[in-house]
Amino acid sequence: MAKKDIDWSSLGFAYQKTDKRFVSNYKDGKWDEGVLTEDSNIVISECAGVLQYAQTVFEGLKAYTTVDGHIVAFRPDLNGERLENSARRLEIPVYPKEKFIDAVVKTIEANADYVPPYGTGATLYVRPFIFGSSAVIGVKPAEEYQFRVFTTPVGPYFKGGAKPITIRVCDYDRAAPHGTGHIKVGLNYAMSLYQIVDAHNQGFDENMYLDAATRTYVEETGGANFLFVTKDGTVVTPKSDSILPSITRRSLMYVAEKYLGLKVEHRPVAFEEVKDFAECGLCGTAAVISPVGKIVDHGKEICFPSGMEEMGEVTKKLYETLTGIQMGKIEAPEGWIKVIK
Ligand SMILES: *Cc1c(COP(=O)(O)O)cnc(C)c1O
Repeated sequence: MAKKDIDWSSLGFAYQKTDKRFVSNYKDGKWDEGVLTEDSNIVISECAGVLQYAQTVFEGLKAYTTVDGHIVAFRPDLNGERLENSARRLEIPVYPKEKFIDAVVKTIEANADYVPPYGTGATLYVRPFIFGSSAVIGVKPAEEYQFRVFTTPVGPYFKGGAKPITIRVCDYDRAAPHGTGHIKVGLNYAMSLYQIVDAHNQGFDENMYLDAATRTYVEETGGANFLFVTKDGTVVTPKSDSILPSITRRSLMYVAEKYLGLKVEHRPVAFEEVKDFAECGLCGTAAVISPVGKIVDHGKEICFPSGMEEMGEVTKKLYETLTGIQMGKIEAPEGWIKVIK
C-alpha cells in the first residue's frame, strides 16, 4: 500500500470520495455488526425519517500523522459520547461509544493511504453520522437507522498563516433555551445557512449568536465556540445550555490551565464585556483556533488589541500547545491520542 497521489498542501475543505466507509444498520431493535464497504451511495425510501423530519445526528474529527509517523485520532471517545447524547435527544437509537471508536478506527485504517503525511498541514476528516432510514409520514421516530462513517482528506485550514477574521452580531438566533443547541445535528445547520450566506454577502466571515431569550449573552458562531482572553491573561469561555460542547474548546481549557498555568473561567459572558477582552478566537476541530480581530455590532466595531494581522499572544500559545500535543511533539494527557497504526 502506498499513499495516494494527492497534492496534500493544496487540498481545500471539500468532499472527496475515499476507498472505504463503515456502515451499520439498525433494524428490529438492534444494531448489526457493521461492515466496511466501497459503496459510497445510499438508497433509502423517499419517505425516510431523515428526509422528511431531519432525524439525523453527526460528528466530526480528524485523523493525521504525528511527527514519529503514527496515524492517530484526537479524543474520539468524546465524539462517541457526544453522538450518544445527540442521538438521545432526537429519539435515535444510541450507537454505543465503544463500538463508535471501533468503527472510527476501522474506517481510518481502511483509508490509511489517504491520511496526509506529517508536515503537510492536511488531515483526514472523519464524519460519523446516524440517520432515520425507514419511511415516516406521521410525525414520529423512524424504526430503522443507519450509522455510517466516511472519511475525506482536507487541506490545511490556514494557508499561509492564520489571519484574524471579522464577525458580526447576528439578528437571528441559533438555538432556543431548552432546545437543541447543545447537540450536533444537521437541523442546527440548516437554519443557519441563510444567516451565513447573508454574512458573507455583507463581507463578514462568521455570525456571533447571542442567547435567544435576552440577546445579552454570547453563545457561539454557527459551528465554533468562542474563547476570550482578558487583559490580565485569563482565558474565558461562554457557558450556556444551548452551546454545543466543543471538544477543541474543552481541550484548550485544559491546556490553558495545566500546560500554560493560566486562569480559566467557563461562565456566562455578557456581550457588554466583549469590548474589554484582549483576544478572541473561535474553536473547533477544523481550525483548532481561528483568531477573531474584529466584531461588528450593527455598525459599532469592537477591535481587539491583537489586531488584524496575527493571532493574539495567548491564543497563539494555546494553538501551538494543542497542535503540538496533537502532532506528538508535546506529551499528551492520558487518553487524548488514539493510535491507529
Ligand atoms: C462541531 C461544532 C463545534 C466544534 O466542536 P469540536 O468538537 O471542537 O469540533 C462548535 N459548535 C457547533 C455548533 C458545532 O456543531
